[in-house]
Amino acid sequence: MRKNIVAGNWKMNNDLAATKTLISELENQVKTSEAEVMIAPTFTNLLEASKLLKDCNIEVIAQNMHFAENGAYTGEISASMLKSVGVTTVILGHSERREYFNETDEILKQKVEAALENNMRVVFCFGEQLEDRKSENHFNIVEGQIKNVLFHLETEAWKNIVLAYEPVWAIGTGETASPEQAQEMHKFIRGLVNSNYNDIVSENVSILYGGSVKPANAKEIFSNPDVDGGLIGGAALNAESFMAIVNAF
Ligand code: PEP
Repeated sequence: MRKNIVAGNWKMNNDLAATKTLISELENQVKTSEAEVMIAPTFTNLLEASKLLKDCNIEVIAQNMHFAENGAYTGEISASMLKSVGVTTVILGHSERREYFNETDEILKQKVEAALENNMRVVFCFGEQLEDRKSENHFNIVEGQIKNVLFHLETEAWKNIVLAYEPVWAIGTGETASPEQAQEMHKFIRGLVNSNYNDIVSENVSILYGGSVKPANAKEIFSNPDVDGGLIGGAALNAESFMAIVNAF
């Protein structure tokens, strides 16, 4: 059965001291959670976060990685480097990576393959822009993003894939997809996975929603049958609001 997951994407926030503080606020509270809980600090704080949380059921995950194993890629981080600091899950395809760092489907395909070859789990993000939704092209856009990057994978690989639908117009804007819009898209996505694979894959893949989830709307969004949790940006930077979202399950 698929898992409920709440993952906090800290983005380029929190230096080492702030990372330690936020972790200490979170670690005691999360022990009783119904959902799997993940946090994604910046690269420089992954080692310390992994050490601090080694006996806690909060998983430390990465926000990005490169597809190459090593070599002349100044400023980049590989899968084995992440694993060497205790990180075995990585967010790939976040809309900020696509927009500001020109990550294309082709690049993301290579990154996903590299992560899976290293036995890592991938939280794969995708979602339409506002103009796509306005022109009612959102289903086509989402289908293309998933198909281009994931549908060549073997069935077995899907055990290590988590999907995160993040409509770009809802990220960091305070505007959230309505629970109906989220459920409609998540159901569509599960159907796509089903028609390309089978019932086992589609019923077992967790599909998270991301885009201005906050304590006030988390319960309603998570109560949809095809929404299996959330990828949380702004509200993950505060222990109280992140925990309220985790406890919405
Ligand atoms: C995100 O960046 O993945 C995100 C969902 O951000 P926010 O919750 O701030 O909209």
